[in-house]
Amino acid sequence: MTYDDNNIFAKILRAEIPCKKIYESEHALAFHDINPQAKIHILVIPKGKYISFADFSKNASKDEIEGFFKAVGKVAENQNLVDDGYRLLTNHGVNAGQEVPHFHIHIFGKQPLGPMISKI
Ligand code: AMP
Repeated sequence: MTYDDNNIFAKILRAEIPCKKIYESEHALAFHDINPQAKIHILVIPKGKYISFADFSKNASKDEIEGFFKAVGKVAENQNLVDDGYRLLTNHGVNAGQEVPHFHIHIFGKQPLGPMISKI
């Protein structure tokens, strides 16, 4: 699978479509999810072209990985999510229902988040 330059997050990174930006650094961009599933639902994406966590963890540089995960932590802290708790989630591939083929981490918070996954 090759990276699709026309995926929606690639367009957000190129500022071709807007987002509700929360935080930006050299390696990451964070913005509100357009269809929030919790009181706080933020997406953090790397600036590099990585399809999913599998691609990012295998192919991103140490600087990109460090910069990205530091950004996730910083966003959670800046949004005051640390004391009450929050959840991180990333979907890779079909079984996980990944919709956008640009690696992203969801941050959920500001409410009890229920069971980790739905029962099958
Ligand atoms: P996933 O299923 O993990 O690929 O999640 C994709 C997420 O992207 C969903 O939660 C969508 O609501 C969200 N999303 C799709 N388009 C946009 C957009 N233009 N701005 C912000 N979030 C979006």
